[in-house]
Amino acid sequence: MLVVDQLKVNYGAVNALDGVSLEVGEGEAIGAIGPNGAGKSTLLAAITGMVKPARGRIEFEGKSIVGTSPEKLVERGISLVPEGRRIFGPLSVAENLQLGATVAARSGVERPAPSVDEVLQRFPALAALRARQAGSLSGGEQQMLAIARALLSGPRLLLLDEPSLGLAPKIVDDVFTLLRDLHGEGTTILLIEQNALKTVRFADRTYVLRTGNIVMTGTRDDLSQRTDFAEEYLGV
Ligand code: ATP
Repeated sequence: MLVVDQLKVNYGAVNALDGVSLEVGEGEAIGAIGPNGAGKSTLLAAITGMVKPARGRIEFEGKSIVGTSPEKLVERGISLVPEGRRIFGPLSVAENLQLGATVAARSGVERPAPSVDEVLQRFPALAALRARQAGSLSGGEQQMLAIARALLSGPRLLLLDEPSLGLAPKIVDDVFTLLRDLHGEGTTILLIEQNALKTVRFADRTYVLRTGNIVMTGTRDDLSQRTDFAEEYLGV
């Protein structure tokens, strides 16, 4: 479904991505992990057209998406949950979701996109907070709101940038349970994370990034059996 081939991204003299290749098949849940500065956010920024690659291919369902506008990506079925959630703090929960629904409608999505009420059925805690100002929500509630907003376009490929960042362990578990449910229902997922253990357990396959390169890749069984991976990333 998504093919990234020999992707290079430079910020001036910094090689943020230095020839990264990965594939996400339809229905798969794929993880990309790595320490700070490994290039994880840059990978998503390149896929979503926010940074221009110096070299390489990015294709979605066989067609290049390099330089595609965010609206067009939504129309094609790609939805991003950005790092830091990027919700509109002064607006209510319902208004944030309504904006998400408007963006989806404007992009001309032809898939059956769910309504705000339908999406909220999955988030009962959020539904109870519809009238609350989004900026007053807890970090976990804001993260759920950001995911709910991304679901309003009925995405086929959901991209998430460090959704567990800064959340309490119980809430991190809730986020992964939600991702498992979405994956179980057929949504294809590319999850960027620093939480290696949770990601490797969740994903069908995980890519390990370090300083702009993929240094390891494998299923949860492959990676758990590699002592270098277990020592460095799983603390075992
Ligand atoms: P983090 O988990 O801290 O977000 P990351 O794995 O997402 O890290 P990136 O943010 O993609 O890593 O950064 C990759 C490299 O590119 C780092 O060396 C970073 O300092 C550099 N970098 C990122 N954004 C910029 C920018 N706008 N200008 C210059 N250098 C940048």
